[in-house]
Amino acid sequence: MPLPMGHTAIGLATYELSTNNNSKTNSLKLIIFLTILANLPDFDVIFGLLIKWNGNAFHRGPTHSLIFALIMGFLASRAWKLSSQIPRIKFGVCFLIILSHVIADFFFTSSPVSFFWPIEVSWSSGYSGWGDVLSSVFFQGFQDAGIIIGSAISIILIRLIKGHQQTLFGFKIRQKPLTK
Ligand SMILES: [Zn+2]
Repeated sequence: MPLPMGHTAIGLATYELSTNNNSKTNSLKLIIFLTILANLPDFDVIFGLLIKWNGNAFHRGPTHSLIFALIMGFLASRAWKLSSQIPRIKFGVCFLIILSHVIADFFFTSSPVSFFWPIEVSWSSGYSGWGDVLSSVFFQGFQDAGIIIGSAISIILIRLIKGHQQTLFGFKIRQKPLTK
């Protein structure tokens, strides 16, 4: 079951895969921003905890949908206008990172997501209080070890492939300058 660390790892791998420039995910601001994007759909747990004292109350509803990824991806790609601290990332990349969360939940867990909300909605069932949520965030990350290792290997492979793309048959290919 992907927890924040697992989602973050998948989000970072998605970023590597979806950006065509050779920018590396080594700036702290970028990693923080990508971590927030990769975990954005699970902010519904916080609302459940605050309003109903149950993290599952509003979990896996509208935030786990294609429409949410499109809207929040758009807003995230414009967020740099609010503060110079926020990295500027293209809409498509933001969208894919948020979508990677929903897809990971779909494939790695048994409970459904609300992919086509508002046509379908699959709320999470059961109860999870503050203690359950906090302990799963901080102490159960090891459950995602397979996902984290898989993502790390993907990132290394993607970087290797990108490195190779700059030289083709021994000729250096000029990289496209970053568009402003
Ligand atoms: Zn989720």
